[in-house]
Amino acid sequence: AKLLGVHVRASAAEDGHVVVEAADVTEAHRVARVRRDFVANVSHELKTPVGALQLLAEALLEATDTEGGDASPDPAAARRFAERIQKESTRLGRLVSELLELSRLQGAEPLPEPQPVAVDRIIAEVIDRTRTPASAKNIEVLVSGDRALTVYGSEGQLVTAVTNLVENAIAYSPENTRVTLGTKTTVGTVEISVVDQGIGIEPRDLDRIFERFYRADRARSRATGGTGLGLAIVKHIATNHAGRVDVSSTPGVGSTFTLRLPGRPPEASVPLPQSVEI
Ligand code: ADP
Repeated sequence: AKLLGVHVRASAAEDGHVVVEAADVTEAHRVARVRRDFVANVSHELKTPVGALQLLAEALLEATDTEGGDASPDPAAARRFAERIQKESTRLGRLVSELLELSRLQGAEPLPEPQPVAVDRIIAEVIDRTRTPASAKNIEVLVSGDRALTVYGSEGQLVTAVTNLVENAIAYSPENTRVTLGTKTTVGTVEISVVDQGIGIEPRDLDRIFERFYRADRARSRATGGTGLGLAIVKHIATNHAGRVDVSSTPGVGSTFTLRLPGRPPEASVPLPQSVEI
């Protein structure tokens, strides 16, 4: 343990000996630091859209001012500001609901009462939820592999996880490409993979993208309305299901995210080892 992580206490015992006690608090320090960093990050992430909303609201007031302002009313500018207010407030709303989702997930380990969930139903629901962003970019979402599979857990959480992966695949891909949602089973494990033909991820970012608020490209994430929390949520859901999520990617070619889940009821399966620590 590092020196920082050791609490030492010395006291004189009744028989004249000196007793030295040392407690390793490295883990406690780490947890406290992670929590402080997270609160600082959340505050920063919330301040950005709130600041933008304040400025935009001022600009909107200015553009619609009919009494004694310097400039005359400008309805076209007013509309632009209102649209940006709508966009920023939508993103802020998503940020708040994803933060709530994340805190719920963190408190819920292990998963209460896992249910059998048909992979087929997950896929159908995900396709339904991602139809609008996919068609906006003319991206075809294909389904391949064996769909008559069952996993165990919460259908709602699993749909959220796969939806996040497909939404990312769409967000980080150019128009007119394909996203493939593949399923297969190998020795007691069900794999659901999302393959895209998008921008890919640099090797240096690969390990970090599952961290809360980490984005490989901040500007692009903002432009797509991203919050930086989607993959952290996916990772928590995978962990809650005794599963894991992995990624492989080639910049400029595309990425593959694979969710591996136990294909047997929880009491019959052994948790899969975790790859990334956050
Ligand atoms: P965001 O809201 O920014 O998309 P995520 O947690 O979902 O946050 O993803 C974290 C980062 O990982 C993204 O900002 C992006 O840089 C990268 N990323 C995630 N999915 C993909 C993908 N399919 N292709 C390329 N980059 C991706």
